[in-house]
Amino acid sequence: MQPLSGTDGAVSEDRGRLYTASRRPGIRVYGERLVSENGTEYREWNPRRSKLSAYLSCGGREFPFRRDSRVLYLGAANGTTVSHVSDIAPEGTVWAVEFSPRSFRDLVTLGDARDNVVPILADATRPDEYSFALDHADVVYSDVAQKGQADILADNMDRYGATYGIVCVKARSEDVTADPEKVFSATTARLRERGMRILDSRRIDPYEKDHMVIVVRRPRTVYTVAFDADGRFLMVRHPRRNGWEMPGGKTEAGETVQEAAAREFLEESGHRISVVAVRDIGYCDVCAAELGEKEGEGEMEARLFDSLPDDLSFGRDEYKSVVPWARDAVVRTRGDE
Ligand code: SAM
Repeated sequence: MQPLSGTDGAVSEDRGRLYTASRRPGIRVYGERLVSENGTEYREWNPRRSKLSAYLSCGGREFPFRRDSRVLYLGAANGTTVSHVSDIAPEGTVWAVEFSPRSFRDLVTLGDARDNVVPILADATRPDEYSFALDHADVVYSDVAQKGQADILADNMDRYGATYGIVCVKARSEDVTADPEKVFSATTARLRERGMRILDSRRIDPYEKDHMVIVVRRPRTVYTVAFDADGRFLMVRHPRRNGWEMPGGKTEAGETVQEAAAREFLEESGHRISVVAVRDIGYCDVCAAELGEKEGEGEMEARLFDSLPDDLSFGRDEYKSVVPWARDAVVRTRGDE
């Protein structure tokens, strides 16, 4: 048994077959083969029974799961793939959403045996319906085999702040008569429109006819609170939103949070900055920075403030904690110098 490359040791391989280390040794979920080696029991992960296994078997390596991932799984069916995701994230949680009561009964049995699986009887097109069970997910995995698969994924990622998404697109579920290639390109286009970056799109046809697995990442948003030597912070006036806001935007491929913050700040205000601290506030990152030289004209009107102006583009509450945090971080760095 060897760890499968690109899966951070979560998936193993032996002579071309995939395995996950069982969270519940001795128990089969769907009649899969069990293999013991060096005190660990492995469950064979059949690519003909699970599209996620098919994705890996077809060479896919955009695999965003970690040991402690919080996974929202849509279209859990009887729990075949869910059980392997439960093995892969033994310190995390898998919320398994399924709307068929018959399949749900099997999921409840699975949830009884595995304490990191939470079965939810609900409709994945209505993400608010299960907000009683979770408030955040790291990864949304969607295999609902129904129309509108891109939007179902994106709506759930938006609702639960997920950074990663995986969708198994069944061409015939979108349109029985359309050319599968057209369905796949329309689905990736729609995901891009929804603000997602496509990490991989891969047909899994040797195992599932006319299916594609698409892995997406939502670019992180970042904004910066930057202070001048007199303790004033800079805001820009957004013409369309018609209010004051901190300069910021989306990170681009290959950029660090700090680099994205500096680029957006320069573009919008014309100023350079030097980032001293970064804080993850859930839906985005915030940078605290020293305000630097003005290099040129920015895209927006920029102004320095001692306190928050009345006309803001976004809510005031978030700034009430973020601005003092950024001020402290900058003052502390100045004290250290
Ligand atoms: N992911 C499963 C696996 O790998 O073991 C197989 C999923 S099967 C292709 C699709 C499942 O999605 C079905 O069980 C179906 O009942 C469920 N489903 C379809 N639309 C749904 C929706 N809107 N909400 C919840 N479940 C849905």
